[in-house]
Amino acid sequence: GLIVKALSGYYYVKPDTESGDYALSETGTIQCRARGIFKKKGISPLVGDEVIYSLTENGEGTVDEILPRRTELIRPPVANIRQAVLLFSVKEPDLSLILLDKFLVHIEHAGLEPLICFTKMDLIDPQDTATRNEVEQAKQLYERIGYQVILTSAENELGTDQIREELNGKISMFAGQSGVGKSSLLNKVIPGSDLNTSEISMRLGRGRHTTRHVELIELQGGGYVADTPGFSQLNFTQLGVDDLGSCFREFNEYADGCKFRGCTHLHEPGCKVIEALETGEIANTRYKHYQQFYQEMKDEKRRY
Ligand code: GDP
Ligand code: ZN
Repeated sequence: GLIVKALSGYYYVKPDTESGDYALSETGTIQCRARGIFKKKGISPLVGDEVIYSLTENGEGTVDEILPRRTELIRPPVANIRQAVLLFSVKEPDLSLILLDKFLVHIEHAGLEPLICFTKMDLIDPQDTATRNEVEQAKQLYERIGYQVILTSAENELGTDQIREELNGKISMFAGQSGVGKSSLLNKVIPGSDLNTSEISMRLGRGRHTTRHVELIELQGGGYVADTPGFSQLNFTQLGVDDLGSCFREFNEYADGCKFRGCTHLHEPGCKVIEALETGEIANTRYKHYQQFYQEMKDEKRRY
C-alpha cells in the first residue's frame, strides 16, 4: 500500500488493491504502526512510501517493509514525489526568470519532473502586448529545453483541465514562492482542497516547534497531490557545485563533449557548452543564471 498520511506515530496506508479488509477506515486507509526494527535502524517511514503491511488482531496494521524510494524530500518529509508543479505568476509578482531557474535547479536535483505553470494570466491587460510577448517568449524558451509549460488563471479557470490531466496517475507537489496562487489554483483543479501553507501553520501557532504534517490528497482520476507545497527554501547548501551543470537540463547533451572532465563550462578551452551558447543553442539567460548560481554556491560554501 501507499502511506498517505502520518500522524502521532501512526501511518495511514491506502491498500494498492481493493480489499475487504476489516481494518479499513472510512477514508479507505489502514492505521498502522511501524515495526520496531525501523527505529533501531534509524529509518522512519515517510508519507509517499510504498510499503508492505500486515494486519494485526486489534484491527490495525503494521508497516513491515518500505520499498525503495525513487525520490525523497526533507521539507516537507515525503517520498516518491514524481512531479513538481512549479507555479510562477506573470503579474503580482512579476515573472522572474532567475527565480524560475533556481527552482528548476532544485527540482532537477531532487529528481522530480517539473511542470511549469504561469499563473494569473487574467491580470495581463489585453492592451499590454509587451508583457504578453514576454510571457510567450519565456514559454517558448522553456519548451525548447523540453519542459512543459501551461498558461493558467485561477480567476477564469484557464489551464485547469490541462493541469488536472497532468496530475493523473502521478504523485505531485505544488511549488513556487508565496503569493503566486498555489492555493487558488489547486482549489480550482481539485475543488475543496486547500494547501497547508506555512502561513496557515503559523497562524495556528504550529510554527517552528512541531514538524509539519504532510498528507497526500487522492485525485478522482488516480494520482495524488501533497497538501503542502515544496521547495520553500532555496539555498544551495545541500547542492555540490559539481552537480549544478547537470541541473541545467539542456547542458547535458553538450557537456559530454567537453574537452576536460569535470569542465565547469565557465572558461575551459574546448567547452561544448560555451560553444552551444555562442551558436545560440543554449539561451543567454540560462547560461547567465548558471554563472550566477555557481558564484553563489562558491560564496555559500565559504560562509558555512
Ligand atoms: P499561494 O501563496 O501561492 O498559495 O497564493 P494564493 O493562492 O494564496 O494567492 C495569492 C493572491 O493572489 C490571492 O490574493 C489570490 O486571490 C490572488 N490570485 C491567485 N490566483 C489568481 C489568479 O489567477 N488571478 C488573479 N487575478 N488573482 C489571483
Ligand atoms: Zn564545458
